[in-house]
Amino acid sequence: MEYQKNDIVTLEILDCGADGEGIGKADGFTVFVKDAVIGDMVKVKLMKVKKHYGYGKLLEVVKASSLRTEPKCPITRQCGGCQIQALSYPEQLRFKERKVRGNLERIGGFSDFVMEPILGMEEPYHYRNKAQFPVGKSRDGRIITGFYAGRTHTIIENRDCALGVPQNKEVLDRVIAYMEENHVEPYDETTGRGLVRHVLIRYGFASKELMVCIVVNGTKIPKEEKLVKSLRELSELRSLSINVNQKQTNVILGDELRVLWGQGYIEDSIGEVRFQISPLSFYQVNPLQTKRLYEKALEYANLTGKETVWDLYCGIGTISLFLAQRAKKVYGVEIIPQAIEDARKNARINRIKNVEFFVGKAEEVLPQEYEKNGVYADVIVVDPPRKGCDEKLLETILQMQPKRIVYVSCDSATLARDLRVLCNGGYELVKGCPVDMFGGTEHVETVALLVKKR
Ligand code: SAH
Repeated sequence: MEYQKNDIVTLEILDCGADGEGIGKADGFTVFVKDAVIGDMVKVKLMKVKKHYGYGKLLEVVKASSLRTEPKCPITRQCGGCQIQALSYPEQLRFKERKVRGNLERIGGFSDFVMEPILGMEEPYHYRNKAQFPVGKSRDGRIITGFYAGRTHTIIENRDCALGVPQNKEVLDRVIAYMEENHVEPYDETTGRGLVRHVLIRYGFASKELMVCIVVNGTKIPKEEKLVKSLRELSELRSLSINVNQKQTNVILGDELRVLWGQGYIEDSIGEVRFQISPLSFYQVNPLQTKRLYEKALEYANLTGKETVWDLYCGIGTISLFLAQRAKKVYGVEIIPQAIEDARKNARINRIKNVEFFVGKAEEVLPQEYEKNGVYADVIVVDPPRKGCDEKLLETILQMQPKRIVYVSCDSATLARDLRVLCNGGYELVKGCPVDMFGGTEHVETVALLVKKR
């Protein structure tokens, strides 16, 4: 049977794609259905029809799968943040394990390695310590904030995300009230006019310290003392700043930061290590699971106290400082200068002396240090962004021949690609362990251990 756009079909969901979408078949024709769950019988409207597959819009769950659960968030379908909140949490974990294993097998071509069971969370809601809310206007002209709908820049109104902390709403209520009372306009992406672009909120789970940063299309905000006064009523506030971003871009933060009140940073700790975090620095969003992730990385690094370790993509030095407690020397490399400032401060406040940090691209700093200064590594840890490691970096790692490589990854597809390069260059994938840092979403973190073949 030939299907056409706008046809309505009923089908059973048999599988789950990499983005968490349901996959079913109608007379052998594959249909991808966002928000449908394995085991659902669904009625869908075909929105796009290709030769061998199509995309269906979920109209009705005719019979709900036993793997379904009631999402905590009422707008999870419109919002682009969560893809699999309707899947029961144990099923989410199984989905993530399958995804990591599938990528390692298919993209990486690996078969002979140990997959440890995924490290899941106790409570898959309210785990995020950070949120960035875009500010805009509704059709009827109200100032609104929330999250972008999937693949668009339409703001779905929400001040109280189920993944975030309750403090988010208190902050947003005050920021919006300040904007309304003082006629401060939200930024408009299409015209490039207006002032307030995003509100960035970070909360230290261990320290109970709150940071607010307002991203503006300008260098100051009118009547700033009114905003300061209102937000200072929140007793946990430690830092209020504005970030200047006057470019017409999707990138949320600009380079310039001005503190309006308090410190330019908050503190938090993971395990025994304390950290200062500034608005521009990367800091893992799920502190409870981060501890488990770092412990796994430390276990895989297998340090005895004699090793020289390189921690590439080190952010504010979190993994470096964890490793330094058990290594002879740790070198960290990170591209954002503020993050390295934080990393150096963090070493100082923890009285950790056997670390040294470099600002720059990992794929430039490491080759330079290796070629010019002949640096050495027993263990190399990498924790790159989603796009994975640069080829030049992988090449240098292979030349340096560390005994072990610990790869921490937030995208198992690029992980599999990079591990294949390293394994073709003389390493063996020994084991991998997925860690769930992002409940409700399709995302999964993985730690992998590579050992040099004899
Ligand atoms: N290991 C840290 C940070 C991981 S996130 C932690 O666990 O907190 C990835 C980091 O890589 C970010 O801080 C980002 O700023 C940095 N980064 C991105 N591209 C880079 C590059 N080419 N070289 C070095 N660092 C880079």
